[in-house]
Amino acid sequence: MIKLEKLYDKVNNYFKVKKSENFTMQAYLEDRLLNDDNYTNISSKLGKLNYEIAMLDFNGNSENTTKLKEERDRLVKEKLVIYNKYLKELNFSYSCNLCKDTGIYKNKRCKCYYALLTKYTLESLNVKERVYPTFSSEIPNGLEKHYEISKKYVEKFPNTEVKNFVFLGKVGTGKTYLASTIIGELNKKKALTVFLTSNELNSIFLKLHRQEIDRELVFDILTACDLLVIDDLGTEPLYNNVTAEYLLAIISERLDKNKHFIITTNLTTSEILSRYNERFLSRISDKKSTAIIPFNGKDLRI
Ligand SMILES: [Zn+2]
Repeated sequence: MIKLEKLYDKVNNYFKVKKSENFTMQAYLEDRLLNDDNYTNISSKLGKLNYEIAMLDFNGNSENTTKLKEERDRLVKEKLVIYNKYLKELNFSYSCNLCKDTGIYKNKRCKCYYALLTKYTLESLNVKERVYPTFSSEIPNGLEKHYEISKKYVEKFPNTEVKNFVFLGKVGTGKTYLASTIIGELNKKKALTVFLTSNELNSIFLKLHRQEIDRELVFDILTACDLLVIDDLGTEPLYNNVTAEYLLAIISERLDKNKHFIITTNLTTSEILSRYNERFLSRISDKKSTAIIPFNGKDLRI
């Protein structure tokens, strides 16, 4: 059984290690600064200045503080220059600038927290890591329009005109390639993305159904990411009470949460209807949220 707590522990442990690394770095930095005479001199001058300014303000002589305040601003800047010099020497930077490697941003779990949870979960589910392409200057023949639409989508993400795409067309028309490219580009923008073939997704559903993995965990990673790509829908075996049901549940939850998805498939809409169900088809073809993009070019792999 793949347990949620175990994976959370793993993620929390990562942030614990980060915290202690950052603490060590801070302590080291402080030590360097306190041993810099220039820095300590400025600090003590600043202390005196602040006292003088406060006294003048207190005695109602605020008009005489202008010069002193200018001097104070100058010293603060000087101090920062020294601080940054040592920081640069340490060659330190946060892995996540949003939460400064705490895993918490604006009182919520940071995106980097979910990214790590997703990575560990997919690893434990034996989903292989992939390398995704990015937009090329050489647009494959017949995909000019699709390229244009995809570029606009990436550019505006997450505030895209339509949230979701269904790429419909025969094998080898570039659907998977384009969906992967969108993932590659969004990863560059630090979006949290998940790419799964329908077979990989289906085997996750089966594990879920057999209670070999926590439901909460699966829903966490499949519905928290910014974009979920389901590749090659229709090539997976159809398990009774599993495939269609969980597929609908995941897509519905993403639609409710206003989260993006892209589905690629060789099926036609009527084949989708007969293979899954009407409710699923209607949810993935709602014109307000989803655009169905036909791919009918010649086989790009030839
Ligand atoms: Zn973060």
